[in-house]
Amino acid sequence: MEIESIVANSALVRAREGGGSKGRSWKWREMLRFPHISQCAELAMSTERDYYSLCVKQPIGKKLFQLFCRSRPNLQTFMSLQDALVVHEKVVITLSVLHVVLICSSLFLQSNQCVSIVLKHEQSCIQSLEVEPCTDVFHAYLHKHLSGEPFRQYQDSMFFDRFLQWKMVERQPITKQCFRQYRLLGKGGFGEVWACQVRATGMMYACKKLEKTHVKKRRGEAMALNEKQILERLDSRFVVNLVYAYETKHALCMVLTMMSGGDLRFHIYNIGKPGLDRKRVRFYAAEVCCGLIHLHQMSILYRDLKPENILLDDNGHIRISDLGLAVKLSEGSLVRGRVGTLGYMAPEVIGLEHYGMSADWWGLGCLIYEMTAGQPPFRARGEHPKPPEMERRIQKEQEEYGDKFSQNVKNLCSLLLTKDPKERLGCQRSGGREVQYHPFFRKINFRMLEAGLVEAPFKPDPRLVYCSDVQDIEEFSIVKGVTLDHTDSNFYSKFNTGKVPISWQNEIIETGCFGELNIFGPVGSRSPDLDW
Ligand code: ADP
Ligand code: MG
Ligand code: MG
Repeated sequence: MEIESIVANSALVRAREGGGSKGRSWKWREMLRFPHISQCAELAMSTERDYYSLCVKQPIGKKLFQLFCRSRPNLQTFMSLQDALVVHEKVVITLSVLHVVLICSSLFLQSNQCVSIVLKHEQSCIQSLEVEPCTDVFHAYLHKHLSGEPFRQYQDSMFFDRFLQWKMVERQPITKQCFRQYRLLGKGGFGEVWACQVRATGMMYACKKLEKTHVKKRRGEAMALNEKQILERLDSRFVVNLVYAYETKHALCMVLTMMSGGDLRFHIYNIGKPGLDRKRVRFYAAEVCCGLIHLHQMSILYRDLKPENILLDDNGHIRISDLGLAVKLSEGSLVRGRVGTLGYMAPEVIGLEHYGMSADWWGLGCLIYEMTAGQPPFRARGEHPKPPEMERRIQKEQEEYGDKFSQNVKNLCSLLLTKDPKERLGCQRSGGREVQYHPFFRKINFRMLEAGLVEAPFKPDPRLVYCSDVQDIEEFSIVKGVTLDHTDSNFYSKFNTGKVPISWQNEIIETGCFGELNIFGPVGSRSPDLDW
């Protein structure tokens, strides 16, 4: 390895280890300083008073609403109930319906106030639990109560004023000065991906830069905006999160969950013999399957499933990334268009037919095949067939299964790589659920997996950098003869929307900044910045 790479890697590793509070700028308090509450009047007027958004979905809003509830004696029982539900969630997920009913009713019975709720709803509770065996039903009852009078009182409290202050901090514009930049992580179609760190909080992220001139020359505006808009609406542990979208003079930037474990391509080919062991194949396939189900539930077709777009985090969990080719389909509709990477395109995509989610299940078949065999299904290692030949193989040829394939994985691959999308696994009414029911996944508890409670079979070494050396990542060329003008700025302003509220609020909480800054006056009194 060359010295340049060693230096770049060790700077990154140090930043990651430092992470959290050590990585904060010495001016971090200044950067996150609350405006005086009198400066929040306009925001208070324009904020939509939606309980679900303000008190459940937004992480800082949820925290402040809980602090409010805890400060009210008459809401204590509801809070202890909520705590108990959180604690029991882990256990409950793995239990049968009967156990759930027993645990939850005994929880409810501990608090008098809730007894009546239980009695009133017991029958419907038990019925819903049979369909969906978890504590969601009980959360629903809690929210039903809290969204009434308590929510009204909350909006007149100092806790809600504090929420408005946080929202004002959230609104501050984002520039490249908000970040420190570390090494280059990868290269994409329109630009480079760099490791970066938020100065105010110390949080590490990956910044995907799209060079404005490249985007313009190759008419990538719609694609860039599409990727950004799809990402900002998603909230899945199996898809990278978008946290900030901003622009610099030369680039449009998307700041994404840092995936320090590298991409699956790197793991399949650059560490030992090509391919992965069965446990890892099963685990990654199961998580990708959950990610696809989340996307499909929101009517999003991904279309770019391949090893280099599946990334590993510090703990060895995967996330789907690179949603540039994803499309949102309107109810029941199909799309057409040869989109994706040829080697991973489904026969119906190549054949210019109309297609729907079937293309992604084919992609999952290709991925499982490649992780197992150490080579993709229709191309030998090092072989580069011409496109017409690739197309012929994908549409006509039966893929071959060597002795690395167990009976189960072979069966699953061949069902996913069924040429006719109508016959393919995953394409029937139950969608991805039927993939999860395949015997290959028998050892996977999908409820636990969805809740993030399954440990990954391989944990990346925190001292290693899982990507090609800096100088081996091809340099990004500069486009000449493209000038940017005011027609472009319309598009830039649609892109440049700053923080994505849920992701940013999570960052503030996870890095401990919320805990350190969210202080009120002595014994529950207002602090001076909250005095109207
Ligand atoms: P493109 O859309 O141009 O293909 P990608 O989003 O796939 O760009 O990014 C290119 C490469 O950068 C990826 O293959 C990966 O190696 C690296 N990369 C992308 N996103 C991240 C991330 N969130 N964390 C770490 N590395 C990333
Ligand atoms: Mg990519
Ligand atoms: Mg892309």
